[in-house]
Amino acid sequence: MSPPKFADFSRIVFFTGAGLSSESGIPTYRGSGGIWKEYNYEDYACQRAFERDPEKVWDFHDKRRAAVAACEPNDGHRLIAVIQRAKPGTTIITQNIDGLHARAGGVDVIELHGSLWRVRCDRERTIRDDTSVPMASRKCTCGAYLRPDIVWFEDALSVDNLRRAERALERADLIVSIGTSGVVYPAADLPRIAVQAGAVSVEINLEDTPVSNLYQHRLRGKASDLLKSMA
Ligand SMILES: [Zn+2]
Repeated sequence: MSPPKFADFSRIVFFTGAGLSSESGIPTYRGSGGIWKEYNYEDYACQRAFERDPEKVWDFHDKRRAAVAACEPNDGHRLIAVIQRAKPGTTIITQNIDGLHARAGGVDVIELHGSLWRVRCDRERTIRDDTSVPMASRKCTCGAYLRPDIVWFEDALSVDNLRRAERALERADLIVSIGTSGVVYPAADLPRIAVQAGAVSVEINLEDTPVSNLYQHRLRGKASDLLKSMA
């Protein structure tokens, strides 16, 4: 069964995960060699750790920001942005926090797990972009510590983001899942919405995942090459 072609669809949802950004050299979080093998998330990536020792949590996130800033979007990110420009019904939903879709030209990206490049003040309930490396200031003008606008362990996903994602998935005619492990919930289950609504479904990944049987087309290999094969 040859892979479907983007040309035959108009409401495409790209659902992306770490496997897409690993081609850019972004360090992965899970799996062998992943960041969570080296660092205990309970000390660096949860609200309790932040309340206990915000400087330590910021040291960790400053390192992540520096590592990501040194990477460039790859052909996969760029092709997705090109398709979005050609087909305005296209939606990008990502589990990645690296901001590479936007740097490649993607717009209105639904970042389910937040972004390394946004900070928020929980005292004043404000959110803003900040791309300084290292962070110019870890504190808000009000004096409170800024917090990375990331969905940390034990945090809930933004209801607003979930609704936007669900709306796009319900109306999709093609769902392309790329480089997601299929183990991080509730995100892992979202593509099912598009499948149940009748979308043609493609999973691009290096290997099978726990949700592979959801997809009609299972393409194995490098994400950017496989995306090009659908163009
Ligand atoms: Zn503030």
